[in-house]
Amino acid sequence: MELPIPNHLRGILHPFGDNNSELQLKGIIKCSCGSDEFEIGFVGNDNEFQEIQAIKVLRVGDEYFLLIKNICSNFKMEHLIFDNDYHGWNGYICGGDNREAKRPKTKIWKCDSCEKSIHRMRVGLVSEGKEDFIEEAGDEFIKESWVDAFGWITIETHCINCEKRNPEWISYETM
Ligand SMILES: [Zn+2]
Ligand SMILES: [Zn+2]
Repeated sequence: MELPIPNHLRGILHPFGDNNSELQLKGIIKCSCGSDEFEIGFVGNDNEFQEIQAIKVLRVGDEYFLLIKNICSNFKMEHLIFDNDYHGWNGYICGGDNREAKRPKTKIWKCDSCEKSIHRMRVGLVSEGKEDFIEEAGDEFIKESWVDAFGWITIETHCINCEKRNPEWISYETM
């Protein structure tokens, strides 16, 4: 069985649980050094976080940004987890509307309960599957890149200091 692990997350997104298939995946983010503890950098809208407990897309003029990157707490290696202009159906297939735009400054996420910044992260992906991709995406894409055109991403954060879990810190449809 093929799993929809996007190419940029190969080696750091480790599937867990027994509900994984071509159409859905849940996994833990782990650095190549073995650590699963990160600071989380993000470009997104956290204005309403207290009410909705979620990070939304940040609108700047006509441009929309949602970018997540993890910084390993061991050796500060950075891992790009998601960028709405490159990943998922719209980002990957449609090319993103503002790949060239200057990214707003990245903020470091601080737990909304204890204000500490080190977290574990789980990522969930929903995919339309390989056959659907081959039919819909067009000839300029190689078949193997179906994994990059997922339709939905969720990100769960888990503060290692106070144990707060937020199962849908991000829940974002990409198509
Ligand atoms: Zn590391
Ligand atoms: Zn906390």
